[in-house]
Amino acid sequence: MTPPARAIRVLPPEITRLIAAGEVISRPLDVVRELLDNALDAGALKIDIELERGGLGKITVRDNGAGIPFDEVKLAPERHATSKLEDVNRVSTLGFRGEALWSMALAGTLELISRPQKQLGAAKLTAKGEEITLERISAPAGTKASVLELFANYPARREMQASQAAEYREVVALVGRYILHYPNLFWKLECDGEIRLQHAPSDSRGAVVTVYGTLVGNRMLSLGEGKSRFIPPAPPLPISPSPNLPPSLSGVISRPELSRPHRDRMHLSVNGRPVSFPVELERAVLSAYGDLLSPGHAPVCVLALELPPERVNPNVHPSKAQVGLAGMSELATLLETTIRAALSEHPLARPAPELRPVEPMIQKNHSSFPDLEPLAIYRDLYLLAEGEGDLWLIDVHAAHERNLYEQFEAAFQESESVELEHPELLQLTPEQTMKLLERQGEFAAWGMALEGFGAGLVRIRSLPAVVIGLSIPNLLELILEGALSEREPQRAVLSRLACAPALRAGQVTLENGVQVLEELRLTRQPWSCPHGRPTVLRLSERDLAHAFGRRGTRDLARGRDVVKGR
Ligand code: ADP
Ligand code: MG
Repeated sequence: MTPPARAIRVLPPEITRLIAAGEVISRPLDVVRELLDNALDAGALKIDIELERGGLGKITVRDNGAGIPFDEVKLAPERHATSKLEDVNRVSTLGFRGEALWSMALAGTLELISRPQKQLGAAKLTAKGEEITLERISAPAGTKASVLELFANYPARREMQASQAAEYREVVALVGRYILHYPNLFWKLECDGEIRLQHAPSDSRGAVVTVYGTLVGNRMLSLGEGKSRFIPPAPPLPISPSPNLPPSLSGVISRPELSRPHRDRMHLSVNGRPVSFPVELERAVLSAYGDLLSPGHAPVCVLALELPPERVNPNVHPSKAQVGLAGMSELATLLETTIRAALSEHPLARPAPELRPVEPMIQKNHSSFPDLEPLAIYRDLYLLAEGEGDLWLIDVHAAHERNLYEQFEAAFQESESVELEHPELLQLTPEQTMKLLERQGEFAAWGMALEGFGAGLVRIRSLPAVVIGLSIPNLLELILEGALSEREPQRAVLSRLACAPALRAGQVTLENGVQVLEELRLTRQPWSCPHGRPTVLRLSERDLAHAFGRRGTRDLARGRDVVKGR
C-alpha cells in the first residue's frame, strides 16, 4: 500500500451512498482489523498491537507510518472522512469508507497520537461520541491509535461479547493472517502484557514459521514468482489495450503431507487485502493438488493475488472480508495451473518417519537384543532385517566395530606382553610427550612399554601379543595416537584398532552382514559402536503405517514383546 498522498476530506453524499457500510465495529476484533488496515495504508514498516481485558479495556495499535498532519487530525474521526478514496471503482487501499475511526469514537473513547515525520510536534486527539479535544504534544513519528473502554456505554453489546480468551484467540488468528500476508514488516502482538506473536521481516516462509512453527514452515514450497504470471488468451480484437498487467499469483503452498482436515490454513490476499477464499478459488487450489490430498483434506497456503483494481470490488461486505472479483473462472485457472506447476517441480516423496536409535533403557542386557531375520543389504553397507514386527537397519561397519572392539578387549586382558624385535621410534608433539609421562604406569599395566627418547621421540619396546598379530597399516601410530590423545586411553586404542579392519561400505554382503549380526547379538553392548554411534535403528511398523496414512498396523503375530516385563 502506498501512503495516502491526499488530505483527509469528507466524502460527498453521492459517493457515501455507494459505499457506506454503517457501523463497522461490533467487537474488539473489528477494531484491531480496522486499525491494522490504517497502519498498513500509512505505509508502516513496524506495527505493535496491545490489548487489555480482551480488548474491552484498551486496544492500541502503534505504527511508524506516514502520520496525520496536525490540521487534518480533527477530521479523521468524522463520518465518511478519508484521505484514500479517489475512484469508487478503483480502490487500491485497505480503507476507503472513512467510517472506522468514526465508529470507534462512538463505541468507546478514541485516542490518536500522530505525527508525520517532517512535522514538529504531534497531535493528540481524543474523541468520544461528539466530544473532540485536540492538543499538541511530543511523540515519535507515526501514529498510535487507541480505543479505550469499548462498549462501556452499550451494556447490551457488552453482554453479547465472547469471552476474553475466545476474543484473544481470534485476534491472534487475525494478526497471524496479516503477518502471513505482510511478512516484510516488524510485528508484535501483546495481550494483557503477554507477547502472543512477534515477527521480524522475512519472506513468506519465515512468516509461516512465525505463525505455524518451523515444522510447517520447512514444508512450504514457493510459487516461482516469474513463472506464476498467467497470460490469458488474447482477445480476438483488442479494442482498447489495457494498460494494466495481467493478474498474477505468488505465495507459498504446503507439501502434500501437511494437509489438514480443515481449510483453516488456506489464506488469500487480493491486492494486499486479506480476504476469505471465494469458493471457486478454493476449489481451484484443491483441484491443483488432486490425488495428492486425501479426500476432504486441504493444504496450508498463503497466496497473494494481484490484479487491476477495477476488477476487485471490496465493497460487498461491512468488514471487507469478502471481495467481488471480475473474471472468476480465469482467476481459478490461474491458481490451478500455477499451483499444479509448482507441485510438479518438486519431488514429493514423503520423508520416512524419524529413525531413532533403540532406547538406551533396554541397553543394559544383551539378551534384550532380538532375533532378527535378515532381509537384504542396502547400499553395500546396511543390513535390513525384520524383528518384533518392526524393520531394523544395521550399520554393518558400526556393528562390526563393536564386535572387534569387544574381542580385542577380551584378548587385551589375557594377552602376554611381547618384546618387539625392532623397537620403533616415533615422533610426538609436546602435548603427547606430557601425556606419555602421565600415563606410563597405566600403559605398563596393559603390557605396553613406551619410553621417552628425548627430543620429542618415543620408543615402543613391547606390546600385547594380540595387537602384534594384527595386520593394520600404521598400527603403531594408531596405538600411540589413541593412547596419548583422549581421556580413556584403552578405549581410544581399542576403538581405533577395531575401526581399521571393520567391514566398510562396498565390502558388505548378505553373508558377511549376517555373520556380523550374529556376533553382534553376543556382545556386551550391541546397541552402539565403540565411538558411541548407534549400530541399529528401528523403524516401527506403526510409524510407517502412520506415514503412509494407514489407520493401523497389520495384525500379524509379532515376535517377542520388548515392553513386557522390562
Ligand atoms: P479510512 O481508512 O476508510 O480512510 P478511517 O476512519 O479508518 O477511514 O481513517 C480516516 C483517515 O484517518 C484515513 O483516511 C487516514 O487519512 C487517517 N488515518 C487513520 N489512521 C491512520 C494511521 N494509522 N496513519 C495515518 N493516517 C491515518
Ligand atoms: Mg480505515
